[in-house]
Amino acid sequence: MRFPLSLTAGMAGYIAKNKMMPKPEWQLKRAGEPDPSNPFQILHSSLGNQQTTPHPMINKRFPLVLMLEPLHACNLTCTGCGRIREYENTITEQLSAEQCLNAVDECGAPIVSICGGEPFLYQPIAQLTQSILDRGKHIYLCTNGMFIRRRLKEFQPNPRLFINVHLDGMEATHDLCVEREGVFKEAVEGIKIAKAAGFKVCTNTTIYKETDMAEIRALFQFLETLGVDGHMVSPAYGYSAVNDREIFMTRDDVIEKFRDASELWERFPINNSPIYLDFLKGERDLPCTAWGNPTYNTSGWKGPCYLITDGHYKTFEEFMTRTPWESYGAGNDPRCEHCMTHCGYEPSAALGINSKSGDSMKLLKWALK
Ligand code: SF4
Repeated sequence: MRFPLSLTAGMAGYIAKNKMMPKPEWQLKRAGEPDPSNPFQILHSSLGNQQTTPHPMINKRFPLVLMLEPLHACNLTCTGCGRIREYENTITEQLSAEQCLNAVDECGAPIVSICGGEPFLYQPIAQLTQSILDRGKHIYLCTNGMFIRRRLKEFQPNPRLFINVHLDGMEATHDLCVEREGVFKEAVEGIKIAKAAGFKVCTNTTIYKETDMAEIRALFQFLETLGVDGHMVSPAYGYSAVNDREIFMTRDDVIEKFRDASELWERFPINNSPIYLDFLKGERDLPCTAWGNPTYNTSGWKGPCYLITDGHYKTFEEFMTRTPWESYGAGNDPRCEHCMTHCGYEPSAALGINSKSGDSMKLLKWALK
């Protein structure tokens, strides 16, 4: 099976429950109307007189995956990373483990993705991970892999814990993307040690405009020999903190890249849902559901999404109710026009928005494979 049964069954039950009984305190109080008490008023650029259809999840919003960033400090300066640039002034700040756990409890998402910054630089990372597992959550511990060898002994393998290693290509390409030689080799050593110790390991790969998909095939083939359990992929997106148009893609670029590589998504254990992959191949449309993937960091709850920062909110409830959700997504905000990233659209796929007949079987086949 692609995921532990606890994740597949738990997520299905969580989605069904929240769809039937959405928490009223998380719904926008006056959808579409400006809230004068919101300190983060946004001036939206007009995209003309386009008629937008109401979002299918109005008044049914709830989180699926918490992106928890205990710190933004990192040992690398990767080309596509927005965090070390956007949070440059607060890069030495860290959340306490207690603040992290409060965020986990406050939003209640069944999956917690611990990212950053480099989580292995966070001193209490092992205790934090265990405390989140003790709450019954599933964890993706996202890392550049440089400290796995040094710190793995502090962790216990758990079927609900995935060590998620960032790899954007084979050695020469990856080291170029992270701007340091030797990173690929160290990450691969970390993967080998983690697998030998019984940990679940997956990888995440950002696909850039210049990514050679034949090389991604070679990467997945190599990782197969190491026993890696799965791969996540996401198209790079040129959000404001990383504004280099050369390496980022338009929607048409993304669709072409992912459609041309269709064979990869069948051949290898891809952790992205097949519905999201259909979206990336241009075979279906999805609305943005950024509230499904909230981000919490040293500045608070980051709105509206992992990519764009129009404000930080003190509480999760404020984030859910004060962010003008209807103003984001393609067709609503020019900054969203070319976004197809997993943080905005993977929740839409999981929630069954714009579903087609046959989707349930497709998802079941994928989850059980
Ligand atoms: S489409 Fe959604 S996820 Fe993408 S940048 Fe806009 S708000 Fe963020």
